[in-house]
Amino acid sequence: MTKDIQPVFILPEGSTRTQGKNAQKANILAAKAVADTVRTTLGPKGMDKMIVDAVGDITVTNDGVTILEEMNIEQPSAKMIVEVAKTQENEVGDGTTTAVVLAGELLKNAEDLLDKDVHPTVLAKGYRMADEKAQEILNTIAVDIKDSDKDILKNISMTAMTGKGAETAKEHLADITVKAVSFVADKSTDGISVNKDDIRIEKKVGGSIFNTELVEGIVLDKERVHPQMAKSIESAKIALIDSAIEIKNPETDAKIQITDPNQLSGFIEQEEKILTKMVDIIKKSGANVVLCQKGIDDIAQHFLAKAGIYACRRVKKSDMEALARATSASIVTNLDDLNEKHLGKAGQVEEVKVGDEEMTYVKGCKNPKAVTILIRGGTEHVVDEVKRAMDDSMGDVVSALKIGKVVAGAGSVEIELAKELRKFADSLSGREQLAVQAFANAIEIIPRTLAENAGLDPIDITTELKAAHDKKQIWAGVDVFSGKVVDAWKAGVIEPLKIKTQAVSSAAEVAEMILRIDDVIAGSGSGAAPEPMGGMPQMPPGMGM
Ligand code: ADP
Ligand code: MG
Repeated sequence: MTKDIQPVFILPEGSTRTQGKNAQKANILAAKAVADTVRTTLGPKGMDKMIVDAVGDITVTNDGVTILEEMNIEQPSAKMIVEVAKTQENEVGDGTTTAVVLAGELLKNAEDLLDKDVHPTVLAKGYRMADEKAQEILNTIAVDIKDSDKDILKNISMTAMTGKGAETAKEHLADITVKAVSFVADKSTDGISVNKDDIRIEKKVGGSIFNTELVEGIVLDKERVHPQMAKSIESAKIALIDSAIEIKNPETDAKIQITDPNQLSGFIEQEEKILTKMVDIIKKSGANVVLCQKGIDDIAQHFLAKAGIYACRRVKKSDMEALARATSASIVTNLDDLNEKHLGKAGQVEEVKVGDEEMTYVKGCKNPKAVTILIRGGTEHVVDEVKRAMDDSMGDVVSALKIGKVVAGAGSVEIELAKELRKFADSLSGREQLAVQAFANAIEIIPRTLAENAGLDPIDITTELKAAHDKKQIWAGVDVFSGKVVDAWKAGVIEPLKIKTQAVSSAAEVAEMILRIDDVIAGSGSGAAPEPMGGMPQMPPGMGM
């Protein structure tokens, strides 16, 4: 008698498992889908995306990482690609689309080799070798710059904004960016360091992008609490208070029975006394400006105004911290403790009308390394997109200064890199050679996409670019506006080296990681279960496919 062999279940019910080539195919497909989504936004002629979230809020953007974050991608390997964009954002602040598009192309080319039975581990090894070599090549071709090369820094800033919502005012905004960064940069013997927290970006809807300004100091989105307070205080001595200048509400439901009118006025008098005492402590400290993180009682406002003190209430915690650093004040949590030693100093605290609303400018701070960029623009969507573009350009200028090395863009650096990588491939033998070649070909996706997005013929342009590079024109790139091959350096399309080194290494790493996966085991509800579209990430209809 033969016994029936019972199947053995090692996974809980509802889990799914995809193995071998199927797992690889599904992962690659998902990764490619993510890359395809952002591909059309690459470069100055890239299009924007409109993303509508569950509650109907819309975001219109051209920024790779923003698009991917807003999309709420769930498929696991697609999520890994989104991580590439996030790493790029954290490390440089720009180049997120480049990194993702590159990762997608590396996997696409890997798929072709997998179909030709090249083993995934050989491929992964080849990619790692290519990545290492690419870093070396990029460092060799990069150009050294100094902090005095203001024109180059301005070009870097403008390159980051080309094709974004900020483009119309890019000269003006680039001036602001370069000024802000130079203002807070610290020069020491080990080079230049910039603390990006010293540059605050505030947004205020209204006016036009051209009204965007750089304020040497801190801008608070707050007005003075009482109209009788002076609008401007010179030689400000600032108290930062993190407790309410109010009578505390009784915590328990105590009932106070008032049986006769005298008792009521007595009660009010008592309150007034407490508030007067609070204001007296402030007066005694010598402060002429009070910035309070909590509320300020009406009566206290009145007394403060009478004492010639300028006050704002409900100041954001992050602003309080920035103020503490900029003015060397210490934030006081218990008002009774306040004394002269806690006060910060600034040349002037002033209420300024910006558009229809009042804001408080704290200028001439004790620590001059505090600047605010106040972004203006017609609507909230404009202001938000300008902020994203400014973030990118700020990241680029900071990175260029820190590392002191830059390259030209417009596809020039990628063509040169691909050319050198092919030379390296020739020195190898066997299947790794194929992998390095595939890597080199993948890099060319950047100029190809720049051309494609500009409505140019990608094959013609790449052929022309390659011919120029063979003639040692290392910065030959594509002018997406005229469709011609130009010297990208002379055209002012300049980017920090780090954008490229980071994009190449993160893309290579994620590609290697995805290639090594041959088994996807997913619990139910993990988002990894095969979907109708073969494991593609969930995305709004009509996006990228
Ligand atoms: P990312 O998110 O990768 O920064 P972008 O949409 O900002 O994507 O596009 C960056 C690409 O556009 C880079 O390859 C850069 O060299 C290229 N680029 C920027 N300005 C120009 C220009 N004026 N002409 C051609 N290419 C440009
Ligand atoms: Mg960019």
